[in-house]
Amino acid sequence: MKLPCPFCGLRDAHEFSYLGDAGPHRPETAEGFHDYVYLRDNPAGLLQELWYHGQGCRSWLVVERDTLDHSVTGARLARGGRS
Ligand SMILES: [Zn+2]
Repeated sequence: MKLPCPFCGLRDAHEFSYLGDAGPHRPETAEGFHDYVYLRDNPAGLLQELWYHGQGCRSWLVVERDTLDHSVTGARLARGGRS
């Protein structure tokens, strides 16, 4: 699998570290913190994920990937905020 880094171009996924689903938002209070840390959906289809380009530019990316066929449809810098 290859991931499109905005700085480095198309790179092998082995250069990246996977963090997980980019969707969950950290709760403001302790309420809901257990669910935020431990509970994740496992959708079949498009998912926005956090990836870290540790063997490249060291940027955090939000990658849109189809979990059914691992096709990647886009990537952007995570520091730009959530969309
Ligand atoms: Zn990069």
